[in-house]
Amino acid sequence: MNHLFFRFTIKGVVQGVGFRPFIHRACTQAGLLGFVQNTGEGVVVVVNDAKTFQNILAQLPDHMRIDTLQTETMSAQCTDFTIRASTGDGFSEIPPDFFLCPDCLIELQDPQNRRHDYFFLTCTACGPRFTMTESSPYDRATTTMRDFTMCPDCQKEYGDPSDRRFHAQTIACHICGPKLSLFQNNQPVRVSNDHDILQHVADSLHKGEIVAIKGVGGFHLFCNTENETIQKLDALTGRRHKPYALLCRDMTMTQTIASPTPEEERQLLSSERPIVLVRKKSGAPEVSELDTLGIMLASTALHMLLFKHYPYPLVCTSSNLAHAPLTTQKTEQFVPLVLNHNREIINTTDDSIVKVISETPLLIRRSRGFVPKSIAINSPVTTPILALGAEMNNTFALFDGCGRVILSQHLGNLTHPASFARYQATLKRFLAYTHIKPEMILCDAHPEYQTSIYGKELAQELGVPLIPVQHHRAHAFAAAAEHNLDDFTAIVCDGLGYGDDDTIWGGEIFQNHERIGHLELHPQLGGDAAGRFPYRMLYSILHSFLSPKEITPFLNQKFSPKELSLLEKQFIEKFHAPLTSSCGRVLDAAAALLGFCDERTYDGRPAILLEAHSTTPFDISPVIEDSVLKTTPLFRYLIEHISEDKHRLAATVQHYLASGLYTIAAQTGKPIVWAGGCAYNRIMTEHFLSKGVLINKEIPPGDGGISFGQIATYLHS
Ligand SMILES: [Zn+2]
Ligand SMILES: [Zn+2]
Repeated sequence: MNHLFFRFTIKGVVQGVGFRPFIHRACTQAGLLGFVQNTGEGVVVVVNDAKTFQNILAQLPDHMRIDTLQTETMSAQCTDFTIRASTGDGFSEIPPDFFLCPDCLIELQDPQNRRHDYFFLTCTACGPRFTMTESSPYDRATTTMRDFTMCPDCQKEYGDPSDRRFHAQTIACHICGPKLSLFQNNQPVRVSNDHDILQHVADSLHKGEIVAIKGVGGFHLFCNTENETIQKLDALTGRRHKPYALLCRDMTMTQTIASPTPEEERQLLSSERPIVLVRKKSGAPEVSELDTLGIMLASTALHMLLFKHYPYPLVCTSSNLAHAPLTTQKTEQFVPLVLNHNREIINTTDDSIVKVISETPLLIRRSRGFVPKSIAINSPVTTPILALGAEMNNTFALFDGCGRVILSQHLGNLTHPASFARYQATLKRFLAYTHIKPEMILCDAHPEYQTSIYGKELAQELGVPLIPVQHHRAHAFAAAAEHNLDDFTAIVCDGLGYGDDDTIWGGEIFQNHERIGHLELHPQLGGDAAGRFPYRMLYSILHSFLSPKEITPFLNQKFSPKELSLLEKQFIEKFHAPLTSSCGRVLDAAAALLGFCDERTYDGRPAILLEAHSTTPFDISPVIEDSVLKTTPLFRYLIEHISEDKHRLAATVQHYLASGLYTIAAQTGKPIVWAGGCAYNRIMTEHFLSKGVLINKEIPPGDGGISFGQIATYLHS
């Protein structure tokens, strides 16, 4: 006989997080009849008592999240409560990769446990997910765990509703799961067990060797923190000046080298395990030219095991050559010693990076631990949209037409052909797993970006329109959308973006779509070369009130007489000297003038060094004319006071820009948002936050958030 049942369709972070086993256990205990099932539309739960089930949902563990819940009645015949086999197409969320849960951490360290010291220890609440999943719904068969046949003990736990690994798709043990292996010059190293493998790795680290180790979303390079070893690593990776992150076992180890604030500690310990920028202590390893260290706590069981053999902070960096994408294969490694394992990586993820300003966390890079968790966006639009993002620090984004945006992992600098190939392959995989069929494509307004060129091709292939979105508007709307603002003012500052006119933008104020203010324009002598060499920009700015002869003493002899006459020619003839309102270029020029940086050898370096050398600002009033913040008076002030404390002058520059831009924006009387790459500047952001200005939450304020912003801009138009 059929009875009245209730069918709940649940969306959110409910797949791959132990949701079905949790529901099964709770419903069985409550004596409910029905079933739970993963479908393409989310998790479906059918029960005979809606009220009791609602009470169960109210007690979900923290790492699960319900976004939408639909209920309907139906008739069914059930005599118990079961987990049914997964079905269906449609889009269901794949969870991100999590660090070990407390229960698994205890087992890892318990000599009596059968998973003691096992490097791939996981359960329904923790472990890799996105990086090993090929398609949705998340199930053992759709992950690279399908290559491992469960042993009888694992099989028993998997099928036992009372076990915490009931239906854990990553279930594995020493006997049946992924295995570690060690290679030297591509030849297997003869070692009898994991303990010996890790001891061999630790001995090599002590000796100053660089070791490639396969992680969750790709390979890392590990080495000790001796200066000589770091130099070797620089030579190997082709890096100059760029700081390295350090891996620490725990907070105790972290506190020996850095001083985290409470929010930084919370971020370090979060299950996303990002790299967090923390103020360094004196005597800390010399891996950063800045006042901070990028620190990540052990993010896998393998890291925990490695620290048993090597109990000191370790340099830990993505294994790839400069600008090339992260590697996932043993054969791609470029160091002799490689610690490998045989679980295949489907989706690469770099380490995520967080910077905390005024106890507010900002994502610099949104990748491992966060992706592909969807982000809600408030819009009635039902057209599915693909947004291709910008070119540096790229991500792309998909809007499902039902209020959700899925942002890709950080895909880096797409000017490198291999990175662009990775971008295209990742995009295809996201389209397949989300089952989203875009009816519109959005790209940056810069016609020469790889993503804009590809957008044309893709739009033609799919027969859908391609709409360019101005770069800084995308930043503005990304921040506004996160705060559900329809009517707002935005301050957006970064290095550069293609403007609506013939100028390069980068220090802009918008009221909704309209640009209502900006920084003073200066010629960018030599175009991109001025971004690379900040003294070029300094020459240009100083030229607005000094003669070439008067400028020369402030250039610290960075140019030969011949180069100087060429610069002057560029300035006079306006040849290859586009006008720019870029805030980044102003910060660069100040860093050069004050002697803190003469070359941008990595993204944002001059501005980052300016911030790192700043102390307390002098109080000077911003000069504003027709909603344009003048930067010439700022440099006039710097020149006049050049013999004073350069660290105070450095702070003055950032404070001047922030207070001037805020003054213009505040005249509108609207809520203000602040975004763009300069939002990572501590002094500027501290000033804005103190004035109640809003900033991005789940989305990076820099170019990693452009794709989300392109969607937000379109949805607002
Ligand atoms: Zn666990
Ligand atoms: Zn097993």
